[in-house]
Amino acid sequence: MKDDKNMKKIKFGTVGYGGMGTYHVTGLIPAEEERMEVVGTYDIDEERQEVAKENGTYVYDSYNALLKDEEVEAVLIATPNDSHKDLAIQALEAGKHVVCEKPVTMDTEEFDAILEVAEAEGKVFMVHQNRRWDPDFLLVRDLYEERAMGDVFQIESRVHGANGIPGDWRHEKKHGGGMLLDWGIHLLDQILWMVDSPVEDVKTDLSYILGDEVDDGFTSYITFENGIRAIVEVGTTNFTTLPRWYVKGNKGTARIDDWDLNGEMVVATGTETEAKPSPIRAGVGLTKTMAPPVEGVTKKVDLPKPNVDQTSFYRNFFDVVRYDAEPIVKNEEVREVMTLIDEIFETLGK
Ligand code: NAD
Repeated sequence: MKDDKNMKKIKFGTVGYGGMGTYHVTGLIPAEEERMEVVGTYDIDEERQEVAKENGTYVYDSYNALLKDEEVEAVLIATPNDSHKDLAIQALEAGKHVVCEKPVTMDTEEFDAILEVAEAEGKVFMVHQNRRWDPDFLLVRDLYEERAMGDVFQIESRVHGANGIPGDWRHEKKHGGGMLLDWGIHLLDQILWMVDSPVEDVKTDLSYILGDEVDDGFTSYITFENGIRAIVEVGTTNFTTLPRWYVKGNKGTARIDDWDLNGEMVVATGTETEAKPSPIRAGVGLTKTMAPPVEGVTKKVDLPKPNVDQTSFYRNFFDVVRYDAEPIVKNEEVREVMTLIDEIFETLGK
């Protein structure tokens, strides 16, 4: 164990003091106060600058001023998606390490441009794929890895809301708006990180129900080379929702309804029996196929508590910068997701 107390704190300058930037400055970075702190922020919008000041955060009068501050060792970027590339490259060239919000960039080409500069400058660049730490995802990943349902062959991951696309820039293509680049990044990152097999095929329907120039949701059908299939879906016009996760294995099925981990798992007991399910009335018909299994052949199992790793994103970032530790969110993984999204847009001519 290394003694973090003797290590120099990482001092952050942050850019973008909107919804997520504020959360980093007032919540996520202070949560790791032994290892890091915010020295100041910059936002292009004067109203947001005022809010930052009211919250007690020093405000730089330009991004350049932030980058020139020698006290700042790392920059957190939480601005609209189309600005990430230039802001990241400027920060790296100014000799800063960078944490960048997702989606890292508008496409893989922009991401590669950042990686080239990070490499040349010898600086750490990490993307805030924070939903790798979501308890619902960690629970599904545990069930998958522990083969709690036997061999998983289908994973369905959905987030549904009925509030449409939020905010302003998220409605515009030039800023990298739309749900595929928003929630899609998280859900695809989770699935690709969990299933240890290359993607063989992906088909996607983008939805334009709300009449925006960007997608207000989508459904992706992914086939992995190992045969596992995934359905990944984001909806913003779903007035009632489907479960957050529905996972099928050859020995069981799990349903996780929400972020509070409500749901259930039913597994085969392996009990041998000659008995056959009795037909039931179903609607106006009769069915054996959809009748409940014979008693004892399946059992309901409590969903376990997820194995939540105490290493937060920022703690890992600290270890990467100070001790050359392995990043949990690796740039090659982020690049894989970005490439998949490029392919989806390209195939659909978007
Ligand atoms: P937002 O609109 O609330 O805030 C963006 C802020 O950036 C605004 O205050 C705006 O004035 C400022 N800004 C714009 N261009 C700027 C520039 N060139 N220099 C300085 N400031 C500039 O948006 P948001 O919801 O906070 O999203 C910001 C980023 O965070 C996006 O990339 C988004 O995808 C990401 N995000 C991530 C998560 C997550 O869970 N990881 C959640 C929400 C948002």
